[in-house]
Amino acid sequence: MHELSIIQSMMKIVEKASNGKEVEKIVVKIGKMSGVEPYFLKESFDVFKENTVCKNAEMEIVEVDIKIECYSCGEISKVEGFDFRCPKCQSGKTKIISGEELYIDYIEIKE
Ligand SMILES: [Zn+2]
Repeated sequence: MHELSIIQSMMKIVEKASNGKEVEKIVVKIGKMSGVEPYFLKESFDVFKENTVCKNAEMEIVEVDIKIECYSCGEISKVEGFDFRCPKCQSGKTKIISGEELYIDYIEIKE
């Protein structure tokens, strides 16, 4: 399961960052093109967090929209329905500038 291995590596990062202290909250950014399903990621987190610094932590997921920049006219736009053409000039020459991210934005440590 893809999400479980992501959680395992995230846990390693969180454990290091928290210095063994209890974590209250983890905020994760997931691009809509990252291929990761927020629901499954949360579920994997809940399974995996037992006996870790995250045992009482909640995971908040922030989904990041897919955005493209047009090579022809420079327009930056949000992608709807996986149509990667520029909505302004209809050019197919665009590059993805967001939507592929997958990272821990921040963690909150219990005081
Ligand atoms: Zn364009």
